[in-house]
Amino acid sequence: MSDRSCSSVGIIGAGIQGVCIGLQLLKKNIPTTIFDRNDPGMMASYGNAGHFSPYAVLQLNRPDILYDVPKMLVSSNGPLALKWGYIPKMLPWIFHYLKNCNKKSMLHTAKYMHQILDLSMSAFEEIFQEIDITNLVEQKGIIYIWTNKNIKSRELEIKVRNDLGVKQKILDVKEILDLEPNLKPVFSGGCYYDYAYHARDPHGILKKIFELYIKRGGKFVKENVDEIKQTDYNQTLIKTNSKEYKFEKSVIACGAFSKKLTDQLGEKIPLETERGYHIHFKGMDKLINRPVIFLDRGFGLTPMNQGLRAVGTVELGGLKNPISKKRIEYISNCAKELLPQLGTHDDEWLGFRPTLPDFLPVIGPSKNNQNIIYAFGHQHLGWTLGAITGKIVSSILANEKTNLDLSVYNSSRFS
Ligand SMILES: Cc1cc2nc3c(=O)[nH]c(=O)nc-3n(C[C@H](O)[C@H](O)[C@H](O)COP(=O)(O)OP(=O)(O)OC[C@H]3O[C@@H](n4cnc5c(N)ncnc54)[C@H](O)[C@@H]3O)c2cc1C
Repeated sequence: MSDRSCSSVGIIGAGIQGVCIGLQLLKKNIPTTIFDRNDPGMMASYGNAGHFSPYAVLQLNRPDILYDVPKMLVSSNGPLALKWGYIPKMLPWIFHYLKNCNKKSMLHTAKYMHQILDLSMSAFEEIFQEIDITNLVEQKGIIYIWTNKNIKSRELEIKVRNDLGVKQKILDVKEILDLEPNLKPVFSGGCYYDYAYHARDPHGILKKIFELYIKRGGKFVKENVDEIKQTDYNQTLIKTNSKEYKFEKSVIACGAFSKKLTDQLGEKIPLETERGYHIHFKGMDKLINRPVIFLDRGFGLTPMNQGLRAVGTVELGGLKNPISKKRIEYISNCAKELLPQLGTHDDEWLGFRPTLPDFLPVIGPSKNNQNIIYAFGHQHLGWTLGAITGKIVSSILANEKTNLDLSVYNSSRFS
């Protein structure tokens, strides 16, 4: 129940967070305008792996991973890479990451990712009732495979998921090959989430949600936002390259680009990007029946409408460095290790995961401006978390009460 609803909202960013927040606000009869300098959904929400992963509670702030980082960085042929010249700019993030890379923080992150991941699919299922998802969404499960090389990490992941009540099926090589007969058995075991959905075209789904938003009266302004501020207790101002707009409340949902605006509001939020890549093998999507992720390699394959999408790796290197050909080569080699019949790939794409050093998103009011709400930093899980973030943020904007503990997502944890 809301004490007093809100008269108008401006949302900056038409990625999956922005459009889902917009749609939910219209359901509450709150007039909404979304701003984006690009067409909707052209950044991280465009080229991701398309997994809806409500089970993925454990993140990368883990002591076992920290131990492996130096080895991974020295090898140019591994799942993690670094643009060395960018390190000085990343120091605040690295400082907070090291602080959060211990067992207690790891379990804290897992618990509060689980809080929202657990609600993520029902929130999307509500949206799926309202848009035509024919040829866009499949529910065939998702398989993770691994070698025995990092088996201690795999055991840890299985235990944490069990402790949180996440459903998972551990598979041996034969069971994996029964499901995916074309895979070359270079792995020793795996885990199957048979209830998981995947997108056959994330951008296609986002466009459908955006079309519904427009059909229901939502507005869209294709302009770059230069400035945001709270000008009065009931007024915020969004300034674009050509005009000023006033709303009672505003939302920053700019993914990895949000820091430029939060810095203006006097908060030093250590948001960084984990760069990730995809390539497509056209016409090869029938080689597997469902997404397969090779954990040791930090990469996965998803059957999509554009072809077989090979996607993943983490590259730390900011928003401005060019695409790295070595990363593309790495992904292509990983794909061919599992499916040697693959030939040359088609398009190459670089995307920016928005990541906080404790791997929890920032969701909630700005520290100094209560009418400006943040919704960014969903890292590897922003696609999965789009619909639930829409519900949570729209409730905050409408002053509704919630049973969720939202304090853990507040940006003040970094001040
Ligand atoms: C390789 C890769 C694979 C991934 N796979 C998965 C997966 O399988 N499952 C999963 O759950 N997640 C996955 N993710 C993560 C997920 O894609 C992101 O977390 C999510 O898309 C972020 O959504 P967003 O709306 O916060 O940001 P974005 O989609 O990046 O949208 C932000 C928007 O803000 C706009 N913008 C920014 N600054 C301004 C400004 N100043 N003025 C106007 N507009 C502005 C941008 O143009 C953009 O449209 C993956 C990411 C990558 C890179």
